[in-house]
Amino acid sequence: MLTNSLVELDRRHLIHPVSSFRGHEARGVRVLTSGKGATVTDAQGRTLIDGFAGLWCVNAGYGHESVVEAAADQMRRLPYATGYFDLGAEAPIRLAAVLADRSPGDLNHIYFTLGGSDAVDSTIRFVRYYWHAKGQPQRDQFISVQQGYHGSTTMGAGLTALPGFHDGFGVPYDWQHKISSHYIYRNPVGRDPQAIIDASVAELRAKVEALGPERVAAFYLEPIQGSGGVLVPPKGWVKAMRDVCAEMEILFIADEVITGFGRTGPLFASEEEGIVPDLMTVAKGLTSGYVPMGAVFMRDHVYETIAEGAGAKAIGHGFTYSAHPVSAAVALEVLSLYEGGLLENGRAMGARLMAGLDTLRDHPLVGDVRGRGMLAAVELVTDKDAKTPLPAAVQPATRLFDRAWDHGLIVRSFPQGIFGYAPPLCCTPDQIDAIVARTRAVLDQTLEDPEIRAVLR
Ligand code: PLP
Repeated sequence: MLTNSLVELDRRHLIHPVSSFRGHEARGVRVLTSGKGATVTDAQGRTLIDGFAGLWCVNAGYGHESVVEAAADQMRRLPYATGYFDLGAEAPIRLAAVLADRSPGDLNHIYFTLGGSDAVDSTIRFVRYYWHAKGQPQRDQFISVQQGYHGSTTMGAGLTALPGFHDGFGVPYDWQHKISSHYIYRNPVGRDPQAIIDASVAELRAKVEALGPERVAAFYLEPIQGSGGVLVPPKGWVKAMRDVCAEMEILFIADEVITGFGRTGPLFASEEEGIVPDLMTVAKGLTSGYVPMGAVFMRDHVYETIAEGAGAKAIGHGFTYSAHPVSAAVALEVLSLYEGGLLENGRAMGARLMAGLDTLRDHPLVGDVRGRGMLAAVELVTDKDAKTPLPAAVQPATRLFDRAWDHGLIVRSFPQGIFGYAPPLCCTPDQIDAIVARTRAVLDQTLEDPEIRAVLR
């Protein structure tokens, strides 16, 4: 009764992110009521393994009392302190210092946001300001990567390279450009890592030359492309792109909103790429989704250029909730959980997940298995040689999601027929094995679909 009325209230009043309004009205909401560890419970009392950690964010897992305590304690003492007017509070100051210490190289300056989209948006503003401060205001062209996702603010959505975020919104702007993705499984140059790296390097150079090297402000990438379908670049690809930017004197921005905080193994994926970005964005795992928070990390030279350029003038960028004390207190506690064993468990479970998903390669519907750490994907095809995607009639996004749900598993189901995995780092070996076993059950069931049988080769 209560659930039914919630479904109806939701249908009438709650707008869901990135959803078909009509499709959602027809399907109705599934209400989640509680979570513990790597599992969530729905309003019918069913417990499911959350193989996607909410929206690749609950990296620490659900139900950590110490996090709840940290938030409650901060709320009791001081729920809010503005960072305007030279004011501040202890938790965000300590958090900034700890993050600066843990981040690669001299990413020593942190601007806190409310999530990933506004972190990316903030970098666009900082980048523009930086070039103005350097006396090169004509540097206003931005480059990102096809299949990339950089949030959905008006400016960020134009760096994003997924059509659903452009159609009907009038973006990208004419100053937002793209180069091809590394997408190994479907790369026209083949699977050879060096050939893919060489092609991307050449394309980035050519793009900069075409725009005019004196016009290009920045290049954005995700160390692993998430929302585009969990596309893992060849080893050395990120470093090669970083090197081109350094050589061509373009700012390099690593968007670590998904890859940060243990998702791929280390605290930041940039570490294992051996690079120091000029700016870096994070969110999600920063607070493990318990409360909203994101951040922009800035290298010394970027900070100093902006500081010197502005002089005594205030730099007009700020949010009421930047450096929110409750979010910062949560982030500090979450970080201590990561460093107190969760990162280590995540690395072990990530290896188990990848090994388990690899066993699915023999399945007639599995074209590709890829990932790193606790971030993975299984790409489904109906013809392994031709790499034919599932027919649209199967409606993979909803049908496969529903099936996984019925098997007690939450995974991301991308519209092009790709399962995405990003389980909490606290998963047990049994839970990882169950994720793999339940995926196989969904695949077997899907093999029986008439639309699939008609086209399977
Ligand atoms: N950047 C990347 C790489 C992301 O994956 C996301 C979200 O998934 C964002 C930015 C936007 O973050 P948010 O949804 O917190 O605004």
